[in-house]
Amino acid sequence: MANFDVIVVGGGHAGSEAAAAAARLGARTALITHRFDTIGEMSCNPAIGGLGKGHLVREIDALDGLMGRVADAAGIQFRLLNRSRGPAVHGPRAQADRKLYRRAIQAEMRALSNLDVIEGGIVDLIVSDFDDADRLRVCGVVLADGRSYNARSVVLTTGTFLNGLIHIGESRQPAGRVNEAPSLGISEKLRLIGLQLGRLKTGTPARLDGRTINWGAVEMQHGDQPPVPFSFLTTSITTPQIACGVTETTPATHAIIRDNLHRSPMYSGQIGSVGPRYCPSIEDKVVRFADRERHQIFLEPEGLDDDTVYPNGVSTSLPAEIQDRFLRTIPGLEAVVVIRPGYAIEYDHVDPRELLPTLETKKAPGLYLAGQINGTTGYEEAAGQGLIAGLNAALAAGAAGSGRTGPRTFTLSRADAYLGVMIDDLVTRGVSEPYRMFTSRAEYRLRLRADNADSRLTPFGVAVGCVGSVRDAAYSEKALALTSVRARLEALTLTPSEAARAGLEINRDGKRRSGFEMLVYPGVDFARLTRVWPELTEVAPEIAEQISVDAKYASYVDRQAIDVATLKREESVRIPLGFAYGAVIGLSNEVRMKLDKHRPSTLAQAGQIDGMTPAALMLVLAQLRKGTRAVASG
Ligand code: FAD
Repeated sequence: MANFDVIVVGGGHAGSEAAAAAARLGARTALITHRFDTIGEMSCNPAIGGLGKGHLVREIDALDGLMGRVADAAGIQFRLLNRSRGPAVHGPRAQADRKLYRRAIQAEMRALSNLDVIEGGIVDLIVSDFDDADRLRVCGVVLADGRSYNARSVVLTTGTFLNGLIHIGESRQPAGRVNEAPSLGISEKLRLIGLQLGRLKTGTPARLDGRTINWGAVEMQHGDQPPVPFSFLTTSITTPQIACGVTETTPATHAIIRDNLHRSPMYSGQIGSVGPRYCPSIEDKVVRFADRERHQIFLEPEGLDDDTVYPNGVSTSLPAEIQDRFLRTIPGLEAVVVIRPGYAIEYDHVDPRELLPTLETKKAPGLYLAGQINGTTGYEEAAGQGLIAGLNAALAAGAAGSGRTGPRTFTLSRADAYLGVMIDDLVTRGVSEPYRMFTSRAEYRLRLRADNADSRLTPFGVAVGCVGSVRDAAYSEKALALTSVRARLEALTLTPSEAARAGLEINRDGKRRSGFEMLVYPGVDFARLTRVWPELTEVAPEIAEQISVDAKYASYVDRQAIDVATLKREESVRIPLGFAYGAVIGLSNEVRMKLDKHRPSTLAQAGQIDGMTPAALMLVLAQLRKGTRAVASG
């Protein structure tokens, strides 16, 4: 008998979410990671959420994941980004106390009854013999000290550790993160299994001693009051809130950086791999935006009782002495002491097109991958994948949630969630640079809002069994209230002249409109409706707010419904893994080769492949309908 149902390797953001999700489904789960005290470590910026990423956090929370609740416990400055724009693109963000964040995640790990945490480094995967389809099944792991464990499913979430190499100026050091050894051996095993690997890079700024910053010389920025939490279960934020500083680079900063570009590993040719375009180093910014004289920097304290400051915006891999020099040309940092220099890190990642939408590898059943190993960047992207991989690993291992007999896989569509958008992007398009989430990646963003993540996803979570009783009860109560208030608003109606007499400005077209429909008008809000219908004053403020947002978007969401229905239909057309594209008459060679390479799981995924045409999709569909007994081509 296997030691565990699910083994998760790595206790970062993907790993802790994967382990918690598997354990919530009742799987006997082990989290194997280098050190217990680095579980939940924020390798780079001490912040959670932001544009697009905040949506992911709300979705993870809606499925009863950890990140939202933990960020609420550790958050020391909350801001709702894009507040001046529509709710669809609001980005909840919180700066976190690094230590409190780690502690909160570790407390969650301790509280899970089905979870064993084992300290140690994995050096190899245990695999079965090749099966008839020439695939190896992964069924366990081997640790550096010789221990080995078997499991039905293994989830790898090793972050930046696979053959990690840190660069600071001309110096290079093998490492997974600063002062932590890299993971060696696993990449080679993944190649042996047949997976395609690539190499990416990312970077982090120096850490500063806050006691040596002249805070009087920088602008101070406060968070929102009251703070808006991430979790649908958090009623108020009780952790003390702090301000952060805002300063900027100067022409003198840029001159030092420009003069020393040849010593930056990215420009000297020492690093060949690609980094995150949307999170560029300061060297990149100075080169790419040569006409800009200043770049903004946020000075973010790393904790309530920690003097370390994270200078957000000046990630660099220049030599330490050059970092010292350019930092001191920045207002407020004239006498700053650097605690630790910034660095760049190169690491191996797996081409995510090797994965099914469940995040199981196509070539090695039993092996799931999540997080930075799939070519993404960011805590939220990692956590989201961890959650989906953990659920699927547990389902495949036979876990059944709270005794339910639901589906044996858990996937979300592009129309359901940003989580669905991210995984679909990864498994169909792959990555050419570290992938991060943006609201612009979602076609259905008016529907996929951060405010309604619970309505969109909690019912799915309840069905699969990953949502606990507390959230289930809270959600049911809220859903009931929303339905009943909406029904009441739809029954309360006014003609335009009645509305005008009540001071509500709506179209004067003679058409009678319901309270719900009137909420779409800019001058009409819930408070004004309560003046017309005083019985509405008893509606709880959070329900009134949600109904108002729902009403504003209702007509757009209804119009998108047709597109969503088409997508769902195409998603329900599954393409078998061994489907013979060679037998589809009329497909061009180019399209056939692409389909053969990507092996999409559904017709919708096939449609996402670069160069696919509607005509080619119709040919594939026709062949699938013919029920051809497909034999794998090639
Ligand atoms: P990680 O958080 O890296 O966790 C990996 C875990 O796996 C660790 O606990 C490690 O101990 C464990 N592990 C690894 N190998 C083994 C093994 N063989 N056996 C057992 N345990 C193992 N993100 C951004 O959004 N913006 C940025 O600017 C940014 N900059 C970054 C800069 C640096 C230098 C680094 C290191 C990361 C940066 N990130 C940034 C990325 C962010 O930290 C990651 O995206 C996120 O932490 C990935 O989560 P993960 O769970 O995949 O991996």
